[in-house]
Amino acid sequence: MSLEADWVIDVTGRRQLLGRKLDLIQKPEGQRDCFWFRMRGFDRGMLKNLNALGPMPPGPGEPYHYDRYFSTHHFMGKGFWIWLIPMKGEDGGDMMSVGFTSRPDVFSGNVRRISDFLAHTDQSHRVVSDLVRSGEVLDTNTMKRYHYVVSRVYHPDRWAIVGDAAYAPDPLFSNGLAFGTLQWEQLGEMFRQQLEGRLSPEMVHTYSDLLMGPVIATQTAITNWYPTMHDPFVSAIRLNWIEIAYFYVFLPMVVNGCHYKPDRLKLFKLLQNTSDSRPFDITPDLVAAGKALGRARPEHFVYMGKEKVNLRAMEMLDDLRGLYEQGAEGGRIRAEYTRQILSRVAQVTRTVLDQ
Ligand SMILES: Cc1cc2nc3c(=O)[nH]c(=O)nc-3n(C[C@H](O)[C@H](O)[C@H](O)COP(=O)(O)OP(=O)(O)OC[C@H]3O[C@@H](n4cnc5c(N)ncnc54)[C@H](O)[C@@H]3O)c2cc1C
Repeated sequence: MSLEADWVIDVTGRRQLLGRKLDLIQKPEGQRDCFWFRMRGFDRGMLKNLNALGPMPPGPGEPYHYDRYFSTHHFMGKGFWIWLIPMKGEDGGDMMSVGFTSRPDVFSGNVRRISDFLAHTDQSHRVVSDLVRSGEVLDTNTMKRYHYVVSRVYHPDRWAIVGDAAYAPDPLFSNGLAFGTLQWEQLGEMFRQQLEGRLSPEMVHTYSDLLMGPVIATQTAITNWYPTMHDPFVSAIRLNWIEIAYFYVFLPMVVNGCHYKPDRLKLFKLLQNTSDSRPFDITPDLVAAGKALGRARPEHFVYMGKEKVNLRAMEMLDDLRGLYEQGAEGGRIRAEYTRQILSRVAQVTRTVLDQ
């Protein structure tokens, strides 16, 4: 059957209708495996055994401390990470999504069943295996070597590929739904320009490149992270760096439409990082500081929970100067964070040498 349409938009998810038909699918180096499941009836109090949940109730002057049970919890190990995402079951009771994502060329095990998952987490993350044993597993899923991206998402011939039909990202940064959402605004802008008779082929290519730049840069950053994911010192720094970039650069840009408004696209281009083989990564002096420390202990960490949240990020701005200011502010916070870490490491290693 033939149908005629102004645009063809592929939203078929992992079926990847257009990507396969037009031979656009690429499987990047550093593949991923994923095993995930949902459970209920678990003992929620077990998460209190983690000292990472922060003080509850919040202390004075800490208005944005909430019950950390409702966070996405991440646990990291050599070549893998685990998520715990609290959900609500159909009966209104507690439910939890639990997932195990690994880079098979770095991770030495093979987690495909609950028994593999428990055997592994008994060794690496006891609080997780205890939590799972306390509940009832509802369903399980697995995907092997699932990571792919298409070489382009929009074409002047008026086709588009959106969401999982275009890329299967690592869920570490929760990019999947976020990137799909950006695409709908880009498509809306392209339709507007087309209806006004001013959509050029160059513009379509620009939007395609603009989207794929951060998709590839974030996935490359995560791929590069796996070999040292078990190192709490560098992993904590990497998370904080990414979160500062998110709150001070990425989020204000998206709130202000820099991914689709024609007069703002040049700002979003800054996220393309095409020449950088280690995009968004921490600087070599921080990696070297981690090596100098050896085994990390709680006193080696610098906490910047409040500073890294940019309370201006949601402001809609007429003047782009505000975006540059927020970016500069994020840069200052990151520099101060780095300075404090390096001075703390210098202090600790000096004390050890003195002893
Ligand atoms: C294990 C895992 C964890 C994830 N974690 C997160 C996370 O924490 N945060 C986040 O933001 N994202 C996460 N994602 C990604 C997120 O699930 C996807 O980005 C999102 O579901 C993509 O939506 P989509 O509409 O593109 O595709 P889908 O949700 O797959 O929808 C595509 C739909 O098209 C239907 N379809 C296919 N072919 C046809 C056809 N020919 N005719 C009609 N219908 C068809 C399919 O049945 C399906 O319902 C995760 C993904 C996985 C696999």
